[in-house]
Amino acid sequence: MRGLIRSSALFAVPVALLAAAFTLVFYNSALPPSLAGLRVYGPYILFALGGALALAFNRGRALHALIVLCGAYGAQQLWLQQGLDAFAARTVYIALTLFVPLNLAALALMPERGTFNRHGALRLGAILLQAALTAWVALAGQADVIDWAYQKFLDPAPFSAGRIPQLGIALIGLGLLISMATALMTRSAVAAALAGSIVAFAIAAHVPTASLTFSAFTAMAELMVTVAVLQDTFRMAFRDELTGIPSRRALNERLAGLGRTYTVAMIDVDHFKNFNDTYGHDLGDQVLKMVAAHIAGVGGGGRAFRYGGEEFTILFPGKEADEAMPHLEALREEIESYQVALRGTDRPKKAKGSKRQRGGWRGKNAVSVTVSIGLAERNDRLATPQAVIEAADRALYRAKDKGRNRVSR
Ligand code: GH3
Ligand code: MG
Ligand code: MG
Repeated sequence: MRGLIRSSALFAVPVALLAAAFTLVFYNSALPPSLAGLRVYGPYILFALGGALALAFNRGRALHALIVLCGAYGAQQLWLQQGLDAFAARTVYIALTLFVPLNLAALALMPERGTFNRHGALRLGAILLQAALTAWVALAGQADVIDWAYQKFLDPAPFSAGRIPQLGIALIGLGLLISMATALMTRSAVAAALAGSIVAFAIAAHVPTASLTFSAFTAMAELMVTVAVLQDTFRMAFRDELTGIPSRRALNERLAGLGRTYTVAMIDVDHFKNFNDTYGHDLGDQVLKMVAAHIAGVGGGGRAFRYGGEEFTILFPGKEADEAMPHLEALREEIESYQVALRGTDRPKKAKGSKRQRGGWRGKNAVSVTVSIGLAERNDRLATPQAVIEAADRALYRAKDKGRNRVSR
């Protein structure tokens, strides 16, 4: 639940930029004459900016989303400004309303695979194919195709008014659902930006001849994607990929900014090498995620980090060791009693049955692990974060020596 709330924060930038696009459209006269060119060239400038960033960071999804958005804007500038009466204009319009949401949603679903490689070439090829298909329909006068795409599948009011074909509305709705769900599940800012871009495109496509609207919403959609590239990169630097909790780099920054009172706890999973050897690395990863989630939920204002491997750190800013202790005890018990279900494939080859083993309860259908915790507080003798961490580490080894599954200081 907490994860879902944190993920929904990813929509803050897209929503703010949609609001900005509305503001630009409503207060368009406020743009000084010297900047008037931005109305026309803004989307191209932002495409160049975002595209350069996506290339530099090797972000294929963002790059192709920018190509789709900028391509749609270019098509609007070339063919739609004069209205949709001409057959070519109608063809371009319908192609945009179908292909843009389809492509943006597909990009949201795809894993990140970089720019210049086979996958990137395939995606680019697919985009060009759609453009070629559109050109063929327009030039060959394939009216049947257009009639088919424009047919009304539903007659009642909300779906029959407006210009966007019903098929396009369906794809916009579906694309929005898919990209939002992907953003929430994968915590990807780019997926959230793609959802925002679909909304921006739908608004622009609703008034296809209004160049300012198209320009403003395209520009803001491009900005969403560009900012998302930065957000995802930031996340990669400061969050651990497997567990989703802050990484060692984040810990180091946090340590540099601490006050005079704080407590550090070092946590290590007991006999984890055994666990991996018995149940496999995949279940090991799953257990690490579970342990990390519990550690991140520790009380007493503790901040959790993955120190490395199966080791974690909790920082209690402003707290003495005595104050942190009960929260760590509670955490240790919580992890000990948490059972991870075994699927058929997770069961060890040599069935050991249910028995109490070192490091946790290994039942038939579920397993659990235990953790050892060492803690130390800052004082005159341990004046630097490094010294406190080392002291916590020594305490951790005492906990291991005394038999594991305990908290020592
Ligand atoms: P102890 O109780 O003394 O801590 O024993 P241990 O086996 O946990 O100690 P050790 O440090 O020797 O082993 C740590 C193991 O953790 C080694 C490695 O297989 C496992 N490990 C480290 N990182 C990961 C990871 O990301 N995923 C998985 N599945 N295992 C990991
Ligand atoms: Mg270890
Ligand atoms: Mg260990």
